[in-house]
Amino acid sequence: IEYQWGCLCLFFVMSAFFSYNSLLVFQLVTYAPFTLFPTPVPKAVFLQALAVQTHYNTLVDKISQDPDFLEEALASTIAVDDFTGRLFRIHQQILKEGRSQSIVLGLNRSDYMLDQRNNGLSSLKQIEINTFAASFGGLSSRTPDVHRQILKMAGRLEESQRILDNDPAAGLARAVAKAWELYGSERAVVMFLVEESQRNIFDQRYIEYELWKRNIPTKRKRFDDVCEKGSLDQDKRLFVDGQEVAVVYFRNGYMPQNYPSEKTWEARLMMERSLAVKCPDISTHLAGTKKVQQVLAKPGVLEKFFPDKPQVVEQIRATFAGLYTLDIGPEGDKTVAMALAAPDQFVLKPQREGGGNNIYGSEICQVLQGVKESTERTAYILMDKIHPAPVQNCLLRRDAPLQISNCLSELGVFGVYVRQGKDTVMNDCVGHLLRTKSSEHSDGGVAAGVAVLDNPLLV
Ligand code: ADP
Ligand code: MG
Repeated sequence: IEYQWGCLCLFFVMSAFFSYNSLLVFQLVTYAPFTLFPTPVPKAVFLQALAVQTHYNTLVDKISQDPDFLEEALASTIAVDDFTGRLFRIHQQILKEGRSQSIVLGLNRSDYMLDQRNNGLSSLKQIEINTFAASFGGLSSRTPDVHRQILKMAGRLEESQRILDNDPAAGLARAVAKAWELYGSERAVVMFLVEESQRNIFDQRYIEYELWKRNIPTKRKRFDDVCEKGSLDQDKRLFVDGQEVAVVYFRNGYMPQNYPSEKTWEARLMMERSLAVKCPDISTHLAGTKKVQQVLAKPGVLEKFFPDKPQVVEQIRATFAGLYTLDIGPEGDKTVAMALAAPDQFVLKPQREGGGNNIYGSEICQVLQGVKESTERTAYILMDKIHPAPVQNCLLRRDAPLQISNCLSELGVFGVYVRQGKDTVMNDCVGHLLRTKSSEHSDGGVAAGVAVLDNPLLV
């Protein structure tokens, strides 16, 4: 194991060196954290999650094209949540000016947990859908081989052969490549808009390598680069550092702290206004908010998006957990009372991404007591807490002691789509991700330092 990860790390170090040799910065490179063994996942729910993915892609895309729906769904939230409000203002400005690009590129990841309280029955419940910077498609393309190797070394050959192939990086890149091709300029680049400190670079690199295989040029740029060296020409073509950008692939820009200055916001607006294909564009970004997720769960809403497809509605709705509004009014009051009476049954969620923002247990009461009489409560939504059955495993991460713990897993499914005007050019499910964390933690993803990469072992 050490050897295999050693090789991977060496490879990482080399690519880190190549990307940073001009900066002369010494970077620490370590392996991505992972479970010692794969985690059993019931085959039926796994297949259910794959099967619904293209419908989720369609749903997200339809929402992004429905400004009235977005405005109504987000009205109460944007009044109190500055970050969502700011994004919404960019969306409104783009609507007013008219979208300059009709090519749409969506790279989504829909996340689920299994509710397993019911006599061992597993029910697939969506935690959220990520329309912005959905990560780990790259690294999860490598984890199958890691678990195959571990299981072989442990003498569990039969299980090792049952580890599923998985290559989201190739599928994500296929969609990016299609968008680049439709943009139609061979010299224009795919620009990865990345963080100041690029912690998850290797996950992104796998997608870049897939693009290189197709001779598609890529660049990694930060908001500061766009602020300093970005401009639009008279046709709204985006240039950064003298190079035309065909696709902006946002891997940064989903948290308030990603926008430390007005200039950063101006850079986001410039990219949105440009002819470049944005992944995601501002309206698709908003379609991925937790408030939209809650509104979708209201009776009759899914039907509006799929008026003549009751089976699709049923398939999507089957994955919804209970989601409740905290808007001002009797329904929101009912939600507050319900949460205060049984806080352990729920999760209170603000409009934030990236892990570590949700509120659980007694803290729900503290927060709600403070905001329940004011519009501030509309910054949150309430969700049923999902209860997967814990499974024992070892979580391997740098500097952490090796111990067996009770673990909970979250299954993600990657979906991609490309649309040009009214034509859907691509709509595919391209792979999965299993993340596992100790049951001691209520919240937090891999990037937040809580969960680790895993593989499903179908049972
Ligand atoms: P984020 O955008 O921060 O990733 P999520 O909604 O995905 O927000 O929540 C973060 C983490 O919190 C999830 O990965 C999961 O571990 C936990 N979590 C979120 N919602 C629920 C829920 N309804 N039941 C149980 N755990 C949840
Ligand atoms: Mg999440």
